[in-house]
Amino acid sequence: MKEINTAEVFPTLRNISLSRRTFVACAAIAAAQAALVSAGCAPEVQSSGEGLASTAAFAPGTYTASAPGKKGPVTVEVRMSENAIESVEVVEFEDTERISAPARERVPQQIVELQSLNVDAVTGATLTSMAIIESVADCVNQANGDASALKKAASPEKSDETKEIQADLVVCGAGGAGMAAAVAAAQQGLDVVVFEKTAYAGGNALVSGGWLEVFEGVDDMKPDMTDGNRDMFHATLQKSLDNGVPKDFVDAVQADFDAYFAAGNTKVYDSMEYYALDYASRNGGPAKEYWLPYAHKVNDLNNWLFDQGYTVSGTLVGIVGFPWPRKAHAVDKENGEGFFSVFDNTVETQSLPITFLFETPVSELIVDGKAVVGASGQCADGTTYRVMADRGVILATGGYSGNPDLLKKYNEMWPWDESTVIPTTNSYGHTGDGHVLAEGLGAELKNMGRQMVFPIADSIDYSTETIVGNAGLGLFVNVNGERFINESLDRFALSAAVMKQPEEKLFIISDALNSGLVNGYNEQGYSADKLIEESKLFRADSLEELAQMIGADPSVFAKAVDDYNAIARGDVADTVFGRENMSEKDAIIEAPFYASPRTWAAHVTIGGVAIGPDYQALTADGAGIEGLYVVGECSDGNSGVSSMSTGLSCVNQMLA
Ligand SMILES: Cc1cc2nc3c(=O)[nH]c(=O)nc-3n(C[C@H](O)[C@H](O)[C@H](O)COP(=O)(O)OP(=O)(O)OC[C@H]3O[C@@H](n4cnc5c(N)ncnc54)[C@H](O)[C@@H]3O)c2cc1C
Repeated sequence: MKEINTAEVFPTLRNISLSRRTFVACAAIAAAQAALVSAGCAPEVQSSGEGLASTAAFAPGTYTASAPGKKGPVTVEVRMSENAIESVEVVEFEDTERISAPARERVPQQIVELQSLNVDAVTGATLTSMAIIESVADCVNQANGDASALKKAASPEKSDETKEIQADLVVCGAGGAGMAAAVAAAQQGLDVVVFEKTAYAGGNALVSGGWLEVFEGVDDMKPDMTDGNRDMFHATLQKSLDNGVPKDFVDAVQADFDAYFAAGNTKVYDSMEYYALDYASRNGGPAKEYWLPYAHKVNDLNNWLFDQGYTVSGTLVGIVGFPWPRKAHAVDKENGEGFFSVFDNTVETQSLPITFLFETPVSELIVDGKAVVGASGQCADGTTYRVMADRGVILATGGYSGNPDLLKKYNEMWPWDESTVIPTTNSYGHTGDGHVLAEGLGAELKNMGRQMVFPIADSIDYSTETIVGNAGLGLFVNVNGERFINESLDRFALSAAVMKQPEEKLFIISDALNSGLVNGYNEQGYSADKLIEESKLFRADSLEELAQMIGADPSVFAKAVDDYNAIARGDVADTVFGRENMSEKDAIIEAPFYASPRTWAAHVTIGGVAIGPDYQALTADGAGIEGLYVVGECSDGNSGVSSMSTGLSCVNQMLA
């Protein structure tokens, strides 16, 4: 794991006079960067060493080649003269637009400027970068050049400069919570500097399902209330009571529910109080004192996003582990892109004074006495940035599901030992840097053993996006073809069960009517044919054939499907696994049949840096660390896309 230094006092900094012009110029560039999704803290390219292309002889012409990126092939078109690579253009790609954009822009630019293939991969977009380099190498070879020599040619020169910036507020991490904090602070007049480890804003919030929990103003998006929903509602109330939620709070929700339907409503019921019970029943913690105020913050976040043009459409849904239908998605945007295009637009149209330092992981918190007064980090181009901030520093560096050592160190829930390889669903860089930095200044890390594992990650690449079938409610079977769990349980229970299955693997089974495929594509836009090609999906015209494809005994598999269908049709109760929320449409009856192979992977960390109600970091004895605030998944108890609300709330309280 990367070593992180905690800072000592930086005694001379208070006397340094900083150029305001430099800062304003940075802000202007950064606003443009955010809007254009360009990246890199210093886009200028200078070479160290010589490019060999100038001495090389090529067969002039325009060449094309492809190499595999993260999600599919990246294709480049390269124009060569007799002795130079004249231009490189990425003409086709399937990688996420926002994540791959900095690589598609910078890597071709550096190759041409340096006449070299020895250029840097862009942080967080390594696979796209490597695909571009390999494709250009292929073109060089097609032109009778020597790509292997170009791979040893000039590399971009590293700077050893230190730049100092004065700001009002530093935000570490440009994911969901960090961007909400930065934008809200800048809207209220603060000069903000954002350190971001990767070359783009987004973090896990960008690759997330992008589901926002909404309560108000969405009546027309609510599905009909079903018997399954009623059962779930009553089970949630009972579990809340079992978890110690006071009876009067639970009774009030029941009374509100009864009044809602007595008034003739037929759509699904919801309220912030029920949300509080739902979370208290799943995550524990006080419903009234913690989860109800949290619900209000989520509602504030929604209204703030809607004010800035964020729009949702479709029907409210439940997702795996969170089955109550209250999740909404942005119109026409994949994953969490809806949030970040709204942030881009707000930064640009409101000319917000935010400086983004991309590819610049924070590695040090600057302390004056006991107060945190700034942060510093080194950009991928070598420049060190030291940023002083009158209002302090907000840590928004996300969770640590991408750091197996930290996961194991704090693990209390999972059967892992030193040799366990822990896969993750997370995007690059979620290694708990903020946790380590805060702990280095005496902050307490709380509930670190609460680590959520995703039970149905892709069994090949651990993606959450390649699912075919009903993720939260479809039929789950193991590699023997046996049903093994109530599929609507929470992620902790599901993951624990998956870890006990042979090969720690399951298949989500679906049919022509409930696969969720529309015109051959799943909800995240993955083509079923392509998934089948990559062994990430199996499709068959009979259940027997499907059983053979997944290596199960056809008679065992057929019995699992028959039993499941009988429960779905309401012929019998699920006496073995106790699932209640099923309906006829869950039955597996019509060919073609699908099996989506899945496994577990580390996903979200729920514990984190202890914070007070104003998000100030706390030491073990409850004292606040002046100038240090923690939001989003880095903080104890906050996670999920809705934890963007903590970034907004932190800033609103700071400036109240
Ligand atoms: C695949 C996937 C799907 C998910 N789907 C959902 C969903 O549908 N609904 C839901 O509610 N939740 C979902 N989640 C969880 C949710 O995305 C996260 O809990 C949420 O994004 C946390 O927000 P955050 O701002 O704290 O962290 P993030 O959004 O992860 O942002 C943290 C940022 O900090 C940066 N960073 C890290 N270290 C440093 C450093 N040293 N210096 C500077 N920057 C740093 C990271 O690069 C990143 O940009 C999903 C998570 C994953 C991985």
